[in-house]
Amino acid sequence: MGDGPVDPRRRVPRTDALLADPRLAAATATLGRDRVKAVVAQAQERARRGEIDPEAVRDAAVAALPPSGPRPVLNATGVVLHTNLGRAPLSPEAVAAVVAASGHTDVELDLSTGRRARRGRDALDALAAAVPDAEAVHVVNNGAAALVLAATALAAGREIVVSRGELVEIGDGFRLPDLLESTGARLREVGTTNRTTLADYAAAIGPRTGFVLKVHPSNFQITGFTSAAGVRQLATLGVPVVADIGSGLLRADPLLPDEPDATTTLRDGATLVTASGDKLLGGPQAGLLLGAADLVDRLRHHPLARAVRVDKLTLAALAATLHHPDTPTRAALHTDPGVLRQRVERLRDRLGADGRKAEVVPAVAVVGGGGAPGVELDSWALSLPERYATPLRTGDQPVLGRVVRGRLLLDLRCVPADADEAVRAAVLRVADGDD
Ligand SMILES: *Cc1c(COP(=O)(O)O)cnc(C)c1O
Repeated sequence: MGDGPVDPRRRVPRTDALLADPRLAAATATLGRDRVKAVVAQAQERARRGEIDPEAVRDAAVAALPPSGPRPVLNATGVVLHTNLGRAPLSPEAVAAVVAASGHTDVELDLSTGRRARRGRDALDALAAAVPDAEAVHVVNNGAAALVLAATALAAGREIVVSRGELVEIGDGFRLPDLLESTGARLREVGTTNRTTLADYAAAIGPRTGFVLKVHPSNFQITGFTSAAGVRQLATLGVPVVADIGSGLLRADPLLPDEPDATTTLRDGATLVTASGDKLLGGPQAGLLLGAADLVDRLRHHPLARAVRVDKLTLAALAATLHHPDTPTRAALHTDPGVLRQRVERLRDRLGADGRKAEVVPAVAVVGGGGAPGVELDSWALSLPERYATPLRTGDQPVLGRVVRGRLLLDLRCVPADADEAVRAAVLRVADGDD
């Protein structure tokens, strides 16, 4: 060995030394060892090519780590059910139930007899108990699956009579008419966009009718010269009435007077009600089917039912949500604006104590995610410069707000109260980087 300068390429840290770095070691827990090793190898290669110093390899590898999986975000948008943010957050009870059910579980076994039992009976019993007007209930993967199962089992090769005012797109380009026709049912459209009468339905009903479908327009409103036949009227037609209420409200909520609920819809005479589990019910993604025992039985035993069978984790979360209906979604909807104002003011004052200026402004929150399109909820927000939006969204703890007229508003209605400190820390980090 001579005394000359060491070839920089020989100073590139070894893989095992790099993987022992606490930051990279921690990343293997979420990303998996192979993905971290690939990132490390790339950083070593850059050093060998002379693009970075050998001393910089560690930090370069850490900086190049990909984000792991879906990341938790703080929803300060003021949109209670945001489809892009996973709709309803689960309650602590539902989270605990998911964890408990994640190993082997008695989802389909009666431990007292040792025999097979009805799958998910706890969730199904809880749903039946929550809606005594339903003779029978069934649960599938989501609201769309509930509709597809109903259409396939009750109307394949037959007709579904539906108002032109209710042929809705539910989001991301998916349209209910396309979904229903994919089952082999034919849509018999009646009425017009703004007006459909009972007589329109009556004229279309015949021997080929599978059922009349009533869809709640859950993401838009038609106002002005309008009329529609309600479930109570449709129930006089002498054919099954399937009502897609969308939101999953089980009972009427005075806060949301125009939002249909399963109990009232069944009392009005619907034969079958379909709904989502992760909207106003505040539970996991699921499709709820409630109604006449003979129809629910046909759905349960249809071959397609197996393809939309719901997972054990969903069943566990749904049961816990029904047993503990005070969900985060419910809290977000019903929180008093005065309480929100106090939280925002405290946040502003604490930021002020750190020399950071923010304003408290009134805001309007909405239900979103397919529910109560006309409802505005009075709220309060922290108002920040618009340029905070991107760094807050892309930071270690992503915080999503809403840009209104050149300001970034952070509405605390859907932020858990114990996360105010995390919002403060995230804003401070951005403000510090802004200096
Ligand atoms: C949300 C919604 C659906 C789709 O339910 P998913 O659970 O998202 O599949 C269908 N119909 C109506 C009226 C809805 O609001």
